[in-house]
Amino acid sequence: MFLTITTTGTAADPATDLGFLLHKHPGKAQAFATSHGSAHVFYPEATAERCTAALLLEVDPVALVRRGQGKGCGGAPDAALAQYVNDRPYAASSLLAVALGKVFRSALNGRCAARPELVDRVRPLRIEIPALPARGGPELVHRLFDPLGWDLVRPEPVPLDEQFPEWGDSRYVRLVMEGELRLTDALRQLYVLLPVLDDAKHYWVAPDEVDKLLRAGDGWLAAHPDNALITSRYLARHKRLTQSALERLELARLAEADGSEAEELDNAVDETTDTEERPVPLAVRRREAVLAALRSAGAARVLDLGCGQGQLVQELLKDVSFTEIVGVDVSMRALGTAARRLRLERMGEKQAQRVRLLQGSLAYTDKRLAGYDAAVLSEVIEHLDLPRLPALEYAVFGSARPRTVLVTTPNAEYNVRWESLPAGHVRHADHRFEWTRAEFREWAGAVAGRYGYTAQFVPVGDEDPEVGPPTQMAVFTLAAGDTTHTADTDTGTGTDTPKEGEAA
Ligand code: SAH
Repeated sequence: MFLTITTTGTAADPATDLGFLLHKHPGKAQAFATSHGSAHVFYPEATAERCTAALLLEVDPVALVRRGQGKGCGGAPDAALAQYVNDRPYAASSLLAVALGKVFRSALNGRCAARPELVDRVRPLRIEIPALPARGGPELVHRLFDPLGWDLVRPEPVPLDEQFPEWGDSRYVRLVMEGELRLTDALRQLYVLLPVLDDAKHYWVAPDEVDKLLRAGDGWLAAHPDNALITSRYLARHKRLTQSALERLELARLAEADGSEAEELDNAVDETTDTEERPVPLAVRRREAVLAALRSAGAARVLDLGCGQGQLVQELLKDVSFTEIVGVDVSMRALGTAARRLRLERMGEKQAQRVRLLQGSLAYTDKRLAGYDAAVLSEVIEHLDLPRLPALEYAVFGSARPRTVLVTTPNAEYNVRWESLPAGHVRHADHRFEWTRAEFREWAGAVAGRYGYTAQFVPVGDEDPEVGPPTQMAVFTLAAGDTTHTADTDTGTGTDTPKEGEAA
């Protein structure tokens, strides 16, 4: 098992500073005993211009089997014979991550006693792992590392046998990554993601694994789009630990966010979801429900009102039947994140023509929002003070007036099912209210009646027999024969047109 870390530099900013960061002198080769064999650290090259540190793990297969930790041992000594002949010791894997954690512990923790100022320096880094077991293949490698700031992520499949290409690829990839990152961030990503890719955690998953995961995931895991998969695989699909880790990640994220643009307990997992691959976070299921409703309404031009960080916009872009997608949010910060997520600036012309992000408040009518097929308000209404809600109702149903409006909101009854939520609390500090199913139906029915829509209700997430689904959705459809599809803000059909609801 082999991994190299290379950086480049100049005489003034020598690449050999890598030695300080790793706490390993570039002039020496060192060996460390680990529980699975010995780890060697050495520098194949070490000049001011270019410095490479190599970590080689020499696994002792006998020790591995004695510890009963190989895949498939399961405590049955005879079956364990396979451990002597399989490929595990020769590929980078969770064992390499363990060695990384041991040998480079200070670097991983962001400590550098000799040169503390180096820790926060972003450096050009190149990571190379010649044989990385990757269940999920190159595609999963991209999904895991692409969002983490690397300029280049290149996983090349390794053929089973080079002489017989028709046999296809092995489960290994040769991975090269390049980018400008802090070394500590790169190491933390590897520490977590190598075992995730390997997907065969060799040691017993104890509760303190959650703490290790959260420590190593600090600063990148909470916001990672695949954090549910990462958490579940890292914790060997242990459901309770996964759930607990995801809830803690979400709470950490909410504490960091400025409140207005964070999602709720979204990444928490439905405990009843029992897919082999990964638990599906509620936020994902909500987007799926929204997409399904938009498709069945035949919507092509869609508004995402209160689009937040643009996750739904991103999903909509993947489906060409959505020809025009407009994300609207009051928060510039959220829109900035959305623009980065969508890579708006680097987007091809054709894609760019399909999408726009607008800043605006939904409490005011806005002529730019008129004439669309559908509008989505996903987890937005509960962020408005109740007295302001009629203004939003008028702006959306009275003025913008799309044929279809989808509204999702938490089902307050479900809150007793969130383990980490103290009784009587709302899911998110910025929620001004959370409704029961009955309250939501009453509100939606009244709004539909006032503006000439019909309303249907769809549960989102697994329905609990007592308290219902975690999220509730209303699908409003403009009543047949209503011809006021195009908005006219002056003659809004609403009876209680709020006067402050005029466009600024
Ligand atoms: N729709 C996203 C985000 C929900 S969070 C999702 O489903 O994940 C709620 C979002 O509504 C935040 O981004 C917040 O900035 C936005 N928001 C709150 N009040 C708003 C208002 N009056 N006008 C426009 N956006 C608003």
